[in-house]
Amino acid sequence: MKVFKFGGASVKDADGVKNVASILKRYPDENIIVVVSAMGKITNALERLVNAVYYKKEKPFAILEDIKSYHFDIINQLFPNKSHSIYNEINNTFVELDWAIEEEPTLDYNFEYDKIVCMGEIISTKIVNAYLNEVGVSSKWCDVRDFIQTDNTYREGKVDWELTQTLVNKNLLPYFNGSANSIIVTQGFIGGTSENYTTTLGREGSDYTAAILAFTANAENVTIWKDVPGVLNADPKYFKETQKLEQISYQDAIELAYYGVSVIHPKTIKPLQNKKIPLYVKSFINPDDSGTVINENQSPLAVPSYIFKVNQVLISISPKDFSFIVEENFSDIFNLFAEKQVKINVMQNSAISFSVSVDNDERKLPELIKTLQKNYRVLYNDNLELITIRYYNQSTIGKLTIGKKILLEVRSRYTVQLVVKPD
Ligand code: ASP
Ligand code: MG
Repeated sequence: MKVFKFGGASVKDADGVKNVASILKRYPDENIIVVVSAMGKITNALERLVNAVYYKKEKPFAILEDIKSYHFDIINQLFPNKSHSIYNEINNTFVELDWAIEEEPTLDYNFEYDKIVCMGEIISTKIVNAYLNEVGVSSKWCDVRDFIQTDNTYREGKVDWELTQTLVNKNLLPYFNGSANSIIVTQGFIGGTSENYTTTLGREGSDYTAAILAFTANAENVTIWKDVPGVLNADPKYFKETQKLEQISYQDAIELAYYGVSVIHPKTIKPLQNKKIPLYVKSFINPDDSGTVINENQSPLAVPSYIFKVNQVLISISPKDFSFIVEENFSDIFNLFAEKQVKINVMQNSAISFSVSVDNDERKLPELIKTLQKNYRVLYNDNLELITIRYYNQSTIGKLTIGKKILLEVRSRYTVQLVVKPD
Protein backbone atom coordinates (compact mmCIF):
# COMPACT_ATOMS: atom_id res chain seq x y z
CA MET A 1 0.00 0.00 0.00
CA LYS A 2 1.11 3.55 -0.78
CA VAL A 3 0.29 6.86 0.84
CA PHE A 4 -0.19 9.91 -1.40
CA LYS A 5 -0.49 13.41 -0.04
CA PHE A 6 -1.99 16.26 -2.01
CA GLY A 7 -1.48 19.72 -0.51
CA GLY A 8 -3.59 22.84 -0.82
CA ALA A 9 -1.86 24.05 -4.00
CA SER A 10 -2.65 20.79 -5.78
CA VAL A 11 -6.40 21.14 -5.16
CA LYS A 12 -6.72 24.91 -5.37
CA ASP A 13 -9.19 24.81 -8.26
CA ALA A 14 -11.28 22.43 -10.37
CA ASP A 15 -8.35 21.63 -12.67
CA GLY A 16 -6.30 20.67 -9.63
CA VAL A 17 -8.94 18.18 -8.49
CA LYS A 18 -9.14 16.77 -12.02
CA ASN A 19 -5.37 16.38 -11.98
CA VAL A 20 -5.53 14.39 -8.72
CA ALA A 21 -7.89 11.99 -10.47
CA SER A 22 -5.56 11.69 -13.46
CA ILE A 23 -2.59 10.95 -11.19
CA LEU A 24 -4.55 8.25 -9.38
CA LYS A 25 -5.57 6.72 -12.68
CA ARG A 26 -1.88 6.04 -13.30
CA TYR A 27 -1.95 3.58 -10.39
CA PRO A 28 -4.87 1.25 -11.20
CA ASP A 29 -3.37 -1.70 -9.37
CA GLU A 30 -2.46 -0.17 -6.04
CA ASN A 31 -3.97 0.22 -2.63
CA ILE A 32 -3.63 3.91 -1.83
CA ILE A 33 -4.38 6.11 1.17
CA VAL A 34 -4.91 9.60 -0.22
CA VAL A 35 -4.34 12.42 2.26
CA VAL A 36 -5.70 15.80 1.19
CA SER A 37 -5.23 19.30 2.62
CA ALA A 38 -7.68 22.17 2.57
CA MET A 39 -8.08 23.72 -0.87
CA GLY A 40 -5.76 26.57 -1.85
CA LYS A 41 -5.43 29.14 0.91
CA ILE A 42 -8.59 28.08 2.74
CA THR A 43 -6.79 27.38 6.02
CA ASN A 44 -5.71 31.03 6.09
CA ALA A 45 -9.28 32.14 5.38
CA LEU A 46 -10.55 29.90 8.19
CA GLU A 47 -7.95 31.42 10.53
CA ARG A 48 -9.39 34.83 9.69
CA LEU A 49 -12.83 33.43 10.43
CA VAL A 50 -11.71 32.17 13.85
CA ASN A 51 -10.24 35.55 14.67
CA ALA A 52 -13.45 37.27 13.61
CA VAL A 53 -15.52 34.96 15.82
CA TYR A 54 -13.17 35.10 18.76
CA TYR A 55 -12.09 38.74 18.83
CA LYS A 56 -15.33 40.12 17.34
CA LYS A 57 -13.45 42.87 15.50
CA GLU A 58 -14.75 41.79 12.11
CA LYS A 59 -18.03 40.29 10.90
CA PRO A 60 -17.59 36.55 10.43
CA PHE A 61 -20.36 36.09 7.91
CA ALA A 62 -18.67 37.92 5.03
CA ILE A 63 -15.59 35.73 5.46
CA LEU A 64 -17.75 32.62 5.60
CA GLU A 65 -19.57 33.64 2.43
CA ASP A 66 -16.23 33.93 0.60
CA ILE A 67 -15.22 30.48 1.80
CA LYS A 68 -18.53 29.03 0.64
CA SER A 69 -18.47 30.60 -2.77
CA TYR A 70 -14.87 29.54 -3.35
CA HIS A 71 -15.84 25.91 -2.77
CA PHE A 72 -19.12 26.05 -4.66
CA ASP A 73 -17.31 27.57 -7.63
CA ILE A 74 -15.11 24.49 -7.76
CA ILE A 75 -18.06 22.13 -7.21
CA ASN A 76 -20.04 23.82 -10.00
CA GLN A 77 -17.20 23.21 -12.40
CA LEU A 78 -16.67 19.61 -11.33
CA PHE A 79 -20.29 18.49 -11.13
CA PRO A 80 -22.42 19.83 -13.98
CA ASN A 81 -25.31 17.70 -12.73
CA LYS A 82 -26.81 20.01 -10.11
CA SER A 83 -28.71 17.20 -8.43
CA HIS A 84 -25.47 15.42 -7.54
CA SER A 85 -25.44 14.57 -3.83
CA ILE A 86 -22.24 16.56 -3.24
CA TYR A 87 -24.28 19.79 -3.33
CA ASN A 88 -26.34 18.68 -0.37
CA GLU A 89 -23.41 17.21 1.43
CA ILE A 90 -21.34 20.37 1.29
CA ASN A 91 -24.34 22.51 2.15
CA ASN A 92 -24.86 20.41 5.26
CA THR A 93 -21.19 20.72 6.17
CA PHE A 94 -21.49 24.48 5.94
CA VAL A 95 -24.52 24.37 8.20
CA GLU A 96 -22.28 22.72 10.79
CA LEU A 97 -19.77 25.50 10.33
CA ASP A 98 -22.57 28.08 10.71
CA TRP A 99 -23.49 26.51 14.02
CA ALA A 100 -19.89 26.42 15.14
CA ILE A 101 -19.51 30.15 14.63
CA GLU A 102 -22.87 31.07 16.09
CA GLU A 103 -22.08 29.49 19.44
CA GLU A 104 -20.53 31.81 21.97
CA PRO A 105 -16.80 30.91 21.89
CA THR A 106 -15.25 29.30 24.95
CA LEU A 107 -12.27 30.95 26.58
CA ASP A 108 -9.82 28.66 24.84
CA TYR A 109 -8.73 30.23 21.54
CA ASN A 110 -6.85 27.12 20.41
CA PHE A 111 -9.88 24.91 21.00
CA GLU A 112 -12.10 27.22 18.94
CA TYR A 113 -9.42 27.36 16.26
CA ASP A 114 -9.34 23.61 15.78
CA LYS A 115 -13.12 23.33 15.80
CA ILE A 116 -13.41 25.75 12.88
CA VAL A 117 -10.16 25.35 10.93
CA CYS A 118 -10.54 21.57 10.55
CA MET A 119 -13.49 22.19 8.24
CA GLY A 120 -11.15 23.07 5.36
CA GLU A 121 -9.94 19.48 5.20
CA ILE A 122 -13.39 17.96 5.80
CA ILE A 123 -14.78 19.88 2.84
CA SER A 124 -11.85 19.36 0.47
CA THR A 125 -11.82 15.59 1.02
CA LYS A 126 -15.56 15.33 0.43
CA ILE A 127 -15.23 17.15 -2.87
CA VAL A 128 -12.18 15.19 -4.01
CA ASN A 129 -13.72 11.86 -3.02
CA ALA A 130 -17.00 12.61 -4.79
CA TYR A 131 -15.16 13.68 -7.93
CA LEU A 132 -12.99 10.56 -8.00
CA ASN A 133 -16.06 8.36 -7.86
CA GLU A 134 -17.70 10.50 -10.51
CA VAL A 135 -14.86 9.81 -12.96
CA GLY A 136 -14.56 6.13 -12.23
CA VAL A 137 -11.81 6.09 -9.61
CA SER A 138 -13.65 4.21 -6.92
CA SER A 139 -12.71 5.51 -3.49
CA LYS A 140 -14.05 5.75 0.03
CA TRP A 141 -14.11 8.85 2.23
CA CYS A 142 -12.83 8.32 5.75
CA ASP A 143 -12.81 10.62 8.74
CA VAL A 144 -9.19 10.60 9.90
CA ARG A 145 -10.35 11.40 13.44
CA ASP A 146 -11.49 7.79 13.60
CA PHE A 147 -7.81 6.73 13.39
CA ILE A 148 -5.48 9.50 14.48
CA GLN A 149 -5.89 10.26 18.16
CA THR A 150 -4.08 13.05 19.95
CA ASP A 151 -3.99 14.59 23.40
CA ASN A 152 -5.86 17.86 23.85
CA THR A 153 -3.04 20.25 22.99
CA TYR A 154 -5.20 22.18 20.56
CA ARG A 155 -3.41 23.53 17.47
CA GLU A 156 -0.45 21.23 18.15
CA GLY A 157 -2.03 17.87 18.96
CA LYS A 158 0.44 15.25 20.23
CA VAL A 159 -0.24 11.90 18.63
CA ASP A 160 -1.16 9.00 20.89
CA TRP A 161 0.74 6.43 18.84
CA GLU A 162 -0.48 3.36 20.66
CA LEU A 163 -4.13 4.24 20.37
CA THR A 164 -3.69 5.43 16.79
CA GLN A 165 -2.06 2.10 15.91
CA THR A 166 -4.95 0.19 17.47
CA LEU A 167 -7.51 2.26 15.59
CA VAL A 168 -5.66 1.96 12.28
CA ASN A 169 -5.60 -1.81 12.72
CA LYS A 170 -9.25 -1.89 13.59
CA ASN A 171 -10.80 0.77 11.35
CA LEU A 172 -8.46 1.36 8.44
CA LEU A 173 -6.54 -1.78 7.48
CA PRO A 174 -9.57 -4.08 7.09
CA TYR A 175 -10.61 -1.94 4.16
CA PHE A 176 -7.53 -3.04 2.24
CA ASN A 177 -7.70 -6.70 3.30
CA GLY A 178 -7.54 -8.92 0.26
CA SER A 179 -7.84 -5.95 -2.06
CA ALA A 180 -5.31 -4.89 -4.65
CA ASN A 181 -6.81 -1.62 -5.79
CA SER A 182 -8.67 0.14 -3.01
CA ILE A 183 -8.41 3.85 -2.47
CA ILE A 184 -9.41 5.82 0.57
CA VAL A 185 -9.48 9.60 0.78
CA THR A 186 -8.89 11.20 4.14
CA GLN A 187 -7.93 14.49 5.77
CA GLY A 188 -4.48 15.77 6.50
CA PHE A 189 -3.69 18.06 9.42
CA ILE A 190 -6.43 17.00 11.84
CA GLY A 191 -6.88 14.49 14.62
CA GLY A 192 -9.39 13.60 17.31
CA THR A 193 -9.30 13.42 21.10
CA SER A 194 -10.76 10.83 23.44
CA GLU A 195 -13.60 13.26 24.15
CA ASN A 196 -14.38 13.42 20.42
CA TYR A 197 -13.09 16.93 19.93
CA THR A 198 -11.01 17.92 16.93
CA THR A 199 -7.36 18.88 17.15
CA THR A 200 -4.97 20.08 14.48
CA LEU A 201 -1.36 18.99 14.18
CA GLY A 202 0.21 22.40 13.46
CA ARG A 203 0.20 24.40 10.23
CA GLU A 204 1.27 22.46 7.17
CA GLY A 205 0.64 19.30 9.17
CA SER A 206 -0.79 17.20 6.34
CA ASP A 207 2.63 15.78 5.48
CA TYR A 208 2.83 14.59 9.06
CA THR A 209 -0.57 12.92 8.70
CA ALA A 210 0.75 11.04 5.67
CA ALA A 211 3.71 9.86 7.74
CA ILE A 212 1.55 8.80 10.70
CA LEU A 213 -0.70 6.75 8.45
CA ALA A 214 2.26 5.27 6.54
CA PHE A 215 3.93 4.25 9.79
CA THR A 216 0.87 2.69 11.37
CA ALA A 217 -0.34 1.02 8.17
CA ASN A 218 3.19 -0.16 7.20
CA ALA A 219 3.00 1.51 3.81
CA GLU A 220 5.62 0.68 1.22
CA ASN A 221 6.25 4.38 0.48
CA VAL A 222 4.83 7.90 0.71
CA THR A 223 4.57 10.42 -2.12
CA ILE A 224 4.01 14.11 -1.49
CA TRP A 225 2.71 15.66 -4.72
CA LYS A 226 3.87 19.27 -5.05
CA ASP A 227 3.96 22.17 -7.48
CA VAL A 228 7.78 21.99 -7.48
CA PRO A 229 9.93 19.32 -9.16
CA GLY A 230 11.21 17.98 -5.82
CA VAL A 231 13.25 19.28 -2.90
CA LEU A 232 15.52 22.08 -4.10
CA ASN A 233 18.73 23.25 -2.47
CA ALA A 234 17.26 26.73 -1.99
CA ASP A 235 13.88 28.43 -2.09
CA PRO A 236 13.18 29.70 -5.64
CA LYS A 237 11.31 32.60 -4.01
CA TYR A 238 14.68 34.01 -2.93
CA PHE A 239 17.16 32.50 -5.40
CA LYS A 240 17.30 32.39 -9.15
CA GLU A 241 19.62 29.43 -9.40
CA THR A 242 18.42 26.38 -7.58
CA GLN A 243 19.24 22.72 -7.97
CA LYS A 244 16.96 19.81 -7.38
CA LEU A 245 18.28 17.26 -4.90
CA GLU A 246 17.80 13.74 -6.30
CA GLN A 247 18.24 11.97 -3.00
CA ILE A 248 18.40 13.04 0.63
CA SER A 249 19.19 10.92 3.66
CA TYR A 250 16.58 10.85 6.44
CA GLN A 251 19.07 12.63 8.68
CA ASP A 252 19.63 15.50 6.25
CA ALA A 253 15.91 15.72 5.58
CA ILE A 254 15.21 16.06 9.31
CA GLU A 255 17.83 18.77 9.59
CA LEU A 256 16.56 20.65 6.52
CA ALA A 257 12.95 20.42 7.63
CA TYR A 258 13.83 21.45 11.15
CA TYR A 259 15.60 24.55 9.85
CA GLY A 260 12.61 25.43 7.72
CA VAL A 261 12.76 23.89 4.25
CA SER A 262 9.17 24.56 3.37
CA VAL A 263 8.53 21.47 1.27
CA ILE A 264 8.81 19.06 4.21
CA HIS A 265 7.05 19.37 7.54
CA PRO A 266 9.59 18.83 10.35
CA LYS A 267 7.76 16.00 12.11
CA THR A 268 7.22 14.00 8.94
CA ILE A 269 10.53 12.24 8.55
CA LYS A 270 11.03 10.54 11.91
CA PRO A 271 8.17 8.02 11.69
CA LEU A 272 9.24 7.15 8.15
CA GLN A 273 12.86 6.76 9.14
CA ASN A 274 11.87 4.45 12.00
CA LYS A 275 10.32 2.03 9.53
CA LYS A 276 12.64 2.84 6.61
CA ILE A 277 9.71 3.94 4.47
CA PRO A 278 10.95 6.00 1.49
CA LEU A 279 9.41 9.43 0.94
CA TYR A 280 9.08 10.77 -2.59
CA VAL A 281 8.51 14.43 -3.33
CA LYS A 282 7.15 14.65 -6.85
CA SER A 283 5.65 17.21 -9.19
CA PHE A 284 1.91 16.92 -9.76
CA ILE A 285 2.47 18.91 -12.95
CA ASN A 286 5.08 16.49 -14.33
CA PRO A 287 4.32 13.19 -12.61
CA ASP A 288 6.78 11.33 -14.87
CA ASP A 289 9.75 13.26 -13.48
CA SER A 290 11.81 11.49 -10.85
CA GLY A 291 11.36 14.06 -8.08
CA THR A 292 13.37 13.64 -4.89
CA VAL A 293 13.60 10.54 -2.77
CA ILE A 294 14.32 10.66 0.94
CA ASN A 295 15.60 7.33 2.17
CA GLU A 296 18.24 5.55 4.23
CA ASN A 297 21.05 6.09 1.75
CA GLN A 298 23.56 8.06 3.86
CA SER A 299 25.40 10.05 1.20
CA PRO A 300 25.73 13.75 2.07
CA LEU A 301 23.87 16.36 0.03
CA ALA A 302 25.43 17.01 -3.34
CA VAL A 303 25.48 20.80 -2.90
CA PRO A 304 25.20 23.28 -0.01
CA SER A 305 21.56 23.88 0.81
CA TYR A 306 20.23 27.15 2.18
CA ILE A 307 17.14 27.99 4.09
CA PHE A 308 15.85 31.50 4.63
CA LYS A 309 13.42 32.51 7.31
CA VAL A 310 12.22 36.07 7.24
CA ASN A 311 10.36 38.05 9.88
CA GLN A 312 12.61 36.87 12.70
CA VAL A 313 12.90 38.47 16.11
CA LEU A 314 16.17 38.19 18.00
CA ILE A 315 15.49 38.21 21.74
CA SER A 316 18.27 38.61 24.30
CA ILE A 317 17.44 37.66 27.84
CA SER A 318 19.62 38.46 30.85
CA PRO A 319 19.15 38.46 34.61
CA LYS A 320 18.09 41.89 35.85
CA ASP A 321 21.04 42.16 38.24
CA PHE A 322 23.66 41.33 35.54
CA SER A 323 24.51 38.09 37.30
CA PHE A 324 25.56 35.04 35.32
CA ILE A 325 22.90 33.13 33.51
CA VAL A 326 22.76 29.69 35.14
CA GLU A 327 20.90 26.39 34.93
CA GLU A 328 17.88 27.57 36.91
CA ASN A 329 17.43 30.47 34.50
CA PHE A 330 17.55 28.14 31.52
CA SER A 331 14.91 25.82 32.86
CA ASP A 332 12.76 28.81 33.76
CA ILE A 333 13.18 30.36 30.29
CA PHE A 334 12.65 27.15 28.34
CA ASN A 335 9.52 26.38 30.34
CA LEU A 336 8.09 29.74 29.42
CA PHE A 337 8.80 29.24 25.73
CA ALA A 338 7.15 25.82 25.86
CA GLU A 339 4.17 27.13 27.78
CA LYS A 340 3.62 29.99 25.30
CA GLN A 341 4.25 27.62 22.35
CA VAL A 342 7.00 29.81 20.90
CA LYS A 343 9.50 27.79 18.88
CA ILE A 344 13.18 28.66 19.11
CA ASN A 345 14.84 28.66 15.68
CA VAL A 346 18.38 29.18 16.93
CA MET A 347 19.93 29.98 20.31
CA GLN A 348 23.21 31.06 21.80
CA ASN A 349 24.33 31.84 25.30
CA SER A 350 27.07 33.89 26.87
CA ALA A 351 27.95 34.45 30.52
CA ILE A 352 25.22 36.95 31.16
CA SER A 353 22.73 36.57 28.38
CA PHE A 354 20.80 34.07 26.36
CA SER A 355 19.77 34.94 22.79
CA VAL A 356 17.20 33.27 20.58
CA SER A 357 15.68 33.91 17.20
CA VAL A 358 11.98 33.16 16.81
CA ASP A 359 9.24 33.75 14.25
CA ASN A 360 7.40 37.00 14.80
CA ASP A 361 4.01 35.70 15.95
CA GLU A 362 1.89 38.73 16.78
CA ARG A 363 -0.28 36.84 19.21
CA LYS A 364 2.21 34.70 21.11
CA LEU A 365 5.28 36.92 21.27
CA PRO A 366 3.99 39.98 23.16
CA GLU A 367 2.67 37.67 25.88
CA LEU A 368 5.94 35.79 26.13
CA ILE A 369 8.02 38.97 26.31
CA LYS A 370 5.74 40.45 28.97
CA THR A 371 6.12 37.35 31.13
CA LEU A 372 9.89 37.19 30.63
CA GLN A 373 10.21 40.84 31.63
CA LYS A 374 8.96 40.04 35.13
CA ASN A 375 12.28 38.41 35.94
CA TYR A 376 14.69 39.32 33.16
CA ARG A 377 15.97 42.18 31.13
CA VAL A 378 14.71 41.55 27.61
CA LEU A 379 16.03 43.23 24.47
CA TYR A 380 14.64 42.48 21.06
CA ASN A 381 15.29 43.35 17.48
CA ASP A 382 12.76 42.54 14.75
CA ASN A 383 12.58 42.33 10.95
CA LEU A 384 15.61 40.07 10.80
CA GLU A 385 16.40 37.06 8.63
CA LEU A 386 17.68 33.68 9.64
CA ILE A 387 19.94 31.99 7.11
CA THR A 388 20.77 28.33 7.63
CA ILE A 389 23.31 26.60 5.41
CA ARG A 390 23.63 22.84 5.50
CA TYR A 391 27.04 21.65 4.21
CA TYR A 392 28.32 25.22 4.30
CA ASN A 393 31.59 26.62 3.04
CA GLN A 394 33.07 30.08 3.41
CA SER A 395 32.21 31.15 -0.10
CA THR A 396 28.53 30.29 0.35
CA ILE A 397 28.46 32.22 3.62
CA GLY A 398 30.09 35.21 1.90
CA LYS A 399 27.68 35.10 -1.02
CA LEU A 400 24.57 34.89 1.15
CA THR A 401 25.50 37.66 3.58
CA ILE A 402 26.61 40.38 1.15
CA GLY A 403 25.38 43.74 2.44
CA LYS A 404 23.87 42.17 5.55
CA LYS A 405 24.93 42.67 9.13
CA ILE A 406 25.47 39.40 11.01
CA LEU A 407 23.98 39.68 14.52
CA LEU A 408 24.39 36.09 15.62
CA GLU A 409 26.25 33.10 14.24
CA VAL A 410 26.10 29.49 15.38
CA ARG A 411 28.25 26.88 13.67
CA SER A 412 28.26 23.13 13.99
CA ARG A 413 30.12 20.60 11.90
CA TYR A 414 27.72 20.58 8.96
CA THR A 415 25.43 23.52 9.57
CA VAL A 416 25.83 27.22 10.12
CA GLN A 417 23.01 29.53 11.20
CA LEU A 418 23.21 33.28 10.84
CA VAL A 419 20.75 35.86 12.11
CA VAL A 420 21.21 38.87 9.86
CA LYS A 421 19.83 42.36 9.45
CA PRO A 422 18.96 42.96 5.80
CA ASP A 423 19.75 46.32 4.14
N1 ASP B 1 -4.32 22.97 5.48
C1 ASP B 1 -3.29 23.01 6.48
C2 ASP B 1 -2.44 24.24 6.34
O1 ASP B 1 -2.61 24.97 5.37
C3 ASP B 1 -2.46 21.78 6.53
C4 ASP B 1 -1.61 21.55 5.31
O2 ASP B 1 -1.88 22.11 4.26
O3 ASP B 1 -0.66 20.78 5.41
O4 ASP B 1 -1.62 24.50 7.18
MG1 MG C 1 -0.69 23.34 2.62
